[in-house]
Amino acid sequence: MVDKMVDFHIHSQYSDGQASVEEIARKAKERGLKAIAIVDHSIELPFGLTEGKARMREIEIENASSLYGIKIYSGIECSINAAGEIVLPDFEFDFVIASVHEYVCGEEYYRRVLSCMEKYDVDIIGHPFSRLFGFDGRDEKLDEKMLDAVEELGVSIELNSSHKSPPDEFLSLCVDRKITYSIGSDSHTLSGVGEVGWSVEKAKRYMTRAKLFIP
Ligand SMILES: [Zn+2]
Ligand SMILES: [Zn+2]
Repeated sequence: MVDKMVDFHIHSQYSDGQASVEEIARKAKERGLKAIAIVDHSIELPFGLTEGKARMREIEIENASSLYGIKIYSGIECSINAAGEIVLPDFEFDFVIASVHEYVCGEEYYRRVLSCMEKYDVDIIGHPFSRLFGFDGRDEKLDEKMLDAVEELGVSIELNSSHKSPPDEFLSLCVDRKITYSIGSDSHTLSGVGEVGWSVEKAKRYMTRAKLFIP
């Protein structure tokens, strides 16, 4: 199963991760991963990935990719603000993850995510309804509305192993949907690279008609 062989959400030293690109690539190779994505936080955070850092990271990604013979994508994770907006450095990424990184619950959460998907060409919604950010107040009608938008706009839902999100109640609504999903450890450490067991298990169970996101 191809899902086991990818990890599309890994933070490096270019934002708040502990490992270098080269170390991440080596670990991914050791673990038998076929493709990974280095996804650092965007510039709304003081330690985020500026244009200059993105260019430096790109060189390291190319070098590590040829050294270890694995596909490494260049991604970024942007925070969705109260206006449903994100900020990106001036750089061509392979894909963009948009995530809520604040304690936002209920309707407000859906409003931010929907507005972001409408305004920007984002590829993946990161850790939807994360309980690490205290999410509460899911609403099935709004879930369906979000899934309609996701399907229509071709945005992927991330199955995030660190956040263990989205929750089963949301995933069960995905069963008959022809959507796409991504798999990510959201690792900030070297040992977390490729730790996607939770995501793979949920994909098997709920993503029966969905397709794995390929950048
Ligand atoms: Zn995040
Ligand atoms: Zn992350």
